[in-house]
Order: sequence, then C-alpha cells, then structure tokens
Amino acid sequence: MGIRTGGELLRSLRDGRRLFIDGEQVADVTADARFRGAARSLAELYDMQHDAALIDRMTFVSPTSGERVGLSFIEPRSVDELIRRREMVKVWMDATCGMFGRSPDFMNIFFTGFASAADAFGNKERPFAENVRAYHTYIRENDVCMTHTLVNPQVDRSRPVEKQVKDVAAKIVKETDAGIIIRGARMVSTLCAYAHDLLVLPSTYLANSKEAEPYAFGFSVAVNAPGLRFICRPSVIHQNAASVMDYPLSARFDETDAMVIFEDVLVPWERVFIHRDPQLCNSLYNRTGIMPQIMHQFATKNLAKAEFMMGLAFAIAKSTNIDQHLHVQGMLAELIQYTEFSRSCLRASEADAAPGPSAVTTPAAMPLWTVRMMFPKMFVRMCEIIQLLGAGGLVAVPSYAELDGPAAGDVTTYFQAANADAATRIKLFRLAFDAAVSSFSGRQQLYERYYSGDPARLAATLYGLYGRDAYIDRVIAMLEALEARRDA
Ligand SMILES: Cc1cc2nc3c(=O)[nH]c(=O)nc-3n(C[C@H](O)[C@H](O)[C@H](O)COP(=O)(O)OP(=O)(O)OC[C@H]3O[C@@H](n4cnc5c(N)ncnc54)[C@H](O)[C@@H]3O)c2cc1C
Repeated sequence: MGIRTGGELLRSLRDGRRLFIDGEQVADVTADARFRGAARSLAELYDMQHDAALIDRMTFVSPTSGERVGLSFIEPRSVDELIRRREMVKVWMDATCGMFGRSPDFMNIFFTGFASAADAFGNKERPFAENVRAYHTYIRENDVCMTHTLVNPQVDRSRPVEKQVKDVAAKIVKETDAGIIIRGARMVSTLCAYAHDLLVLPSTYLANSKEAEPYAFGFSVAVNAPGLRFICRPSVIHQNAASVMDYPLSARFDETDAMVIFEDVLVPWERVFIHRDPQLCNSLYNRTGIMPQIMHQFATKNLAKAEFMMGLAFAIAKSTNIDQHLHVQGMLAELIQYTEFSRSCLRASEADAAPGPSAVTTPAAMPLWTVRMMFPKMFVRMCEIIQLLGAGGLVAVPSYAELDGPAAGDVTTYFQAANADAATRIKLFRLAFDAAVSSFSGRQQLYERYYSGDPARLAATLYGLYGRDAYIDRVIAMLEALEARRDA
C-alpha cells in the first residue's frame, strides 16, 4: 500500500470504534462536528505526502516493498538522513503551527526507534524482538496512524500500581493460546479518534515483583478491537462559531484526549512486545536508546511552534505600530531568542549525532533534553507575550462574520489599524486570541507541560543522567591549586 491518501484515511476511520463524548457515543468521527475538523486536518497531512512538490521531501522508498513510504519510518543511517527526516517533520509541523503535537510522525519515529533496537525486547519466551520488527514493517507499509498510552489513571499516586486499593489500572488478567487479555484503564490517549492502532507502553517505574508483573507489558491493538472504548474530554471547538476564521486553530487542530478502557480486550501474541516483565519495562528506554529520536521529533515541533508564535507577535505589533516602543521590542526579542534557542538545540543535536542501536544515526541527547525541559516555560511565556501585545484588542475584536453582517459599515471603519484594514486585523486578532487566550491555548499549555512526562521527575532523570563528575573535579582541582599556592 505505501503512503495513504487523506481520503483513504477518512474512510478507514469509519470502523466501528467506540468513542464517547458529552454523554453520548460518536457515530462517525469524520462527520461529528466535535471531531471532523481535526480529521480533515490529518487527512490534509496525509495528502501532502502525495503532492508532487513534496513527495521527495516526505517519503522514501521502502527497503522491503519498493513502495513510497513516510520518511518518519526511516531508520537514519547518516546525519543527512536524520536532517531529511527532520525536514519532513517540519513540513507537517509548519502546516499545523506546531499545534498538532501527536501528528502521526511522533509515534512513527517512536516505534521506528524500537525496531532499530528490537533485540532489547528479547526472543526467549516468545519472539518479541521479531514481533517488534514485523510490526514496524506493517505500520510503515500501511501508513498506520497510532495513538498511545503510557500512564495508569490517577487514583492514588502515593502507592505503586500493584498496591492500589481501587482496581482501576489496566492489567493482564489472562493468557490464552491467542494472546493476552487486558482489563482496566490507561491514560492519556491523544489522537485516538483518528488513529488505527493503540500502543500501550510502559513509562512509570514498576516494582520488580510477582504482584507488579500483570502491569508489566507493551503491546499494540486496533482501536476498534472488541472491548476497547475511549472516553474523551469535551471538545475545545466552539460549536456556535459562525466561521473557521473565528477560531482558526481550535477548529482544525483539536487532536482529542481520552481515557482508554479495556474490557477483556484480546491482544494477539504477535502484537505483544513485552509480557509480564517489570525489569524490561523499567529499563526499556535506556536499553533501546530511543529517547533522542523522539526528542528530535518534538524539538522540531517546538521550533515550528516558536516560529509561528513569533510571526504572530510580529504581525500584531506591526498592525498597531506598538513595535516602536522599546519594551515591546524587548518582548519581540524574547520571542526571537526562544525561536533561535529551539533551532540551536535541534541543530546541535544533529551536529553531534553518533551511531546508536544497530548503527542508526542518533541525535545527541543533551541539547534535546535542554529544549525539552525549557520549552514548556517558553511556550507559556509566548502566550503571555501575545496577551500583553494584543491587550484589550484581543477581546474587542468581533466575529469574522461581522465583516458581512448588518454592522459591516461600522466594522470596516472602526476595526482598522494603522497598518491593517479591518478584515486583516480581525483575522489576525482572532488567531491571536485562539493561540494565547482560548481553551485551545490552555490545553496547548497543559500539553507542553506534560506531554513528555512529569517535569519534576524528568528534571530528576536529567540530573541523574548528566555527567557531573568532570565539573565537580574541576572545581575541586581549582580549590586545591589555590590552596597549594595560598602562602606563596
Ligand atoms: C494534553 C495532554 C496530552 C497527553 N497525551 C498523552 C498521550 O498521547 N499519551 C500518553 O501516554 N500520555 C499523554 N499524556 C499524559 C502524560 O504522559 C502525563 O500527563 C504525564 O506523564 C504525567 O503523568 P500524570 O498526568 O499522571 O501526572 P501525575 O503523575 O499524577 O502527577 C501529578 C502531580 O503530582 C506529582 N506526582 C505524582 N506522583 C508523583 C511521584 N510518584 N513522585 C513525584 N511526584 C509525583 C507530579 O510531580 C505532578 O505535579 C498527555 C497529557 C496531557 C496534559
């Protein structure tokens, strides 16, 4: 099959998946007003792969079928291939203003990393390493869109999962000849409304005990598998908006978040990658070394998002000439710094890339860790700067429909700005409102804080990873040298 078209994607989503929202079951995500905007945006991303002007930048020739397949499935063998993959990701990220965080390239790169390091999954009890390789070929050749869940539901975070009083978290309840049976819940499945497969993988630490084993798994299952259900948060799309121009981001990029419920879901053995193995779960990311590949993807998202927010701020400031003021220039310069910082970390990771698992070119981790940890704060500040620049104008801007309504005369006159006619100003300020003030923006800020894990525990991980001794030694050596010379 190779690369999917947008039309093929939309047709494939009418598959009987069980999604619940606002107290009802969704009949068709491609038609429901709460979902169809993002479904269409995703379809546009898939169509871009077929665009004659983009096909060479977005695809490569499959090593097994000879078909054109998505570049996010490539196992890069050189820095040039790493950069090629990043440029592909950037095309999708620019098309979505960096606001569609779980676009398919995220999980494609994630799982491709596993395939490069498949031996880490072992082949003892069952051919898990082979399962990983075969699944990678399957998703690449069929352009499968994946959602994923790494976290157990928030019930009692003071106890480990196997010692919870309330039995909520997903666990293995049975093995059969066909596969494992899963019962319970997992969170957060972003993109579930538009994905074909759900990947369930470990992230939090598990005790190395018999009691923890039922929670120690990794697998993939079709989102329409019998017994699987998704309970979605309410949409951030404004259902009564007269035009997409009123909420240009919300209307198109609400990627959906959900709790996943497994009611005795059968996962076939060939889709199981980890089985009752807390040790492997705990060491998975170290053993496979995939984090730098994933961080490289989301650092590219960061760059696209920073460039978008910066461009928006420049346009607002120019429209009313506030960029003449020194402190406004200071805020705009801050946005330049965030953008160039994001770009520098990404480029540094490529400049210092080195062979990783199976000789796959792996970007340097530390520049990517740095931008990963700093970007949430930078993005929240970007939203604040847009609020500070737009000020009252952000709420004194009418719906786009007013340009053609009974008050059009007033609107054309009174919504002009020094450097923008009323239509341009309204479009710009509605976009700014959506980017920095709306519930869509609130969800984006939350996403940046948490999508790659709890920042507090990530900081501790970074501290643990960092090579500290050389720096301590330098300080001690300086003090010793000073001490030795103190009487001289
Ligand atoms: C918009 C959005 C989209 C997301 N999309 C996905 C997705 O697609 N797939 C996916 O798998 N996940 C997704 N996530 C979930 C994300 O992985 C988690 O939010 C993140 O790992 C933190 O876990 P938590 O939300 O359970 O927070 P908790 O672990 O409950 O933490 C809440 C607070 O309590 C503190 N805390 C709790 N337990 C401990 C502890 N043991 N030690 C120290 N501090 C603790 C934390 O520091 C934090 O301040 C998404 C999250 C958001 C917000």
